[in-house]
Amino acid sequence: MDISAHRHAAVQQLTDRQLLSDTQPLCGVLDLDLIAAQVANLNAVYPPAGSPKALHTIAAKAAPLGAVLAEVAALGMGCEVASPGELALALDAGFAPEQIVFDSPAKTRAELAQALELGISMNLDNFDELARLDALLDGSAPLAPVGLRINPQIGAGTIDALSTATATSKFGIGLTDPGNRTAIITAYRTRPWLTQLHVHSGSQGIAFEQNARGIAAVVALAKEINDTVGFGQVRTIDIGGGLPVDFTNDDGLPDYQPHRDALEEIVPDLFSGSLDIVTEFGRSLLAKAGFIASSVEYVKYMGGRPIVVQHAGVQVAPRPVLVPTEWSLRVEVYTEAGQLKTGEYAEYDVAGPACFAGDLIARERPLPAVAAGDIVVMPDTGAYYFTLHYSYNALARPAIYACSGVTTDTPNWYVVRPQQSVEEIVAEAGVSELIAI
Ligand SMILES: *Cc1c(COP(=O)(O)O)cnc(C)c1O
Repeated sequence: MDISAHRHAAVQQLTDRQLLSDTQPLCGVLDLDLIAAQVANLNAVYPPAGSPKALHTIAAKAAPLGAVLAEVAALGMGCEVASPGELALALDAGFAPEQIVFDSPAKTRAELAQALELGISMNLDNFDELARLDALLDGSAPLAPVGLRINPQIGAGTIDALSTATATSKFGIGLTDPGNRTAIITAYRTRPWLTQLHVHSGSQGIAFEQNARGIAAVVALAKEINDTVGFGQVRTIDIGGGLPVDFTNDDGLPDYQPHRDALEEIVPDLFSGSLDIVTEFGRSLLAKAGFIASSVEYVKYMGGRPIVVQHAGVQVAPRPVLVPTEWSLRVEVYTEAGQLKTGEYAEYDVAGPACFAGDLIARERPLPAVAAGDIVVMPDTGAYYFTLHYSYNALARPAIYACSGVTTDTPNWYVVRPQQSVEEIVAEAGVSELIAI
């Protein structure tokens, strides 16, 4: 798939359809063909009926958009959820309960009871959560697979906030902390219904080898549990998500093959045929399939610096604005008619609409000559960006569109989420008068 050809065609069609306007100057776009290509790559590299058997789930938090999740469900995937809201979204989108995995580090009793009742697979975060589940089960066994989330404590990647497997990160049960290994084995020995182990040690900034080492630690634990109980009680390893995405170019969609190659080399036991896997990829399925587009409102000069004022700022892209060194995005400029502008005219700051000075999507970025009315595009924002909305300045959640067939003569465009209305913003701001309680 030629990602840039898809995006250039989509921007052209966006302008042809006048989807950017004075009242809707900002939107997000997801290309359904690129999403389908990613799902196909994942299914080809880890065939669902292969060895190991694989249940692929999409991490709902990467794109909690009903119609997009419904498309992914129609492609045969499952869904990983981490809150009652995401669970409801997944059920609404048409995922069957047996295709849903519920992970969250803070499950309440009510959430645990609901998952039990619906027959949804769960990964428990800690021993106290396991005790809560015991109390709810009251001696019976859950319908769906239940596992414990393990932190293999293998160390950080290049992004601290996304490193889930350091000695002190907040998720799961620390495998190397004193006493835990024995306690985990005892937990499984005394509960034959604990048939799964979960590890999500990868994310943006974690190398394949490091991710594989975390999975290897958990596969070794599964073997130790199974040797102790004398049969293959642990049948499934939920290996999480975390395939990194290259935000610097259009060279290709993220490929799951190197992920598998690293696992085959470092965790050969995973391919012995005795274990199944669950995957929970998010960013790698969606990032390259989406972009943010905004009309340029003004171009101004400050102390000699040219500044592009447009509508994508901290409200849709908090990470690039607040942590620019780790989350830099590319910026493209198109004419009002949707034609890509090329060349480097000056080093621009690309500012968003929010009322704080740091609301810059890019700083001193070489760009072609930008004029008011042009369109600024941030590629690779199909995962997380439409999720991370930040209500600062009561800025509207932008419209999200989906498209398919953009490089053919008969492209299709769809509304995924209308722009948030001013009435909705007011309603979200709480009640209009204090309510005594
Ligand atoms: C966020 C998350 C994922 C998805 O991670 P990506 O880096 O987007 O692939 C998978 N599993 C769990 C438990 C998560 O928290």
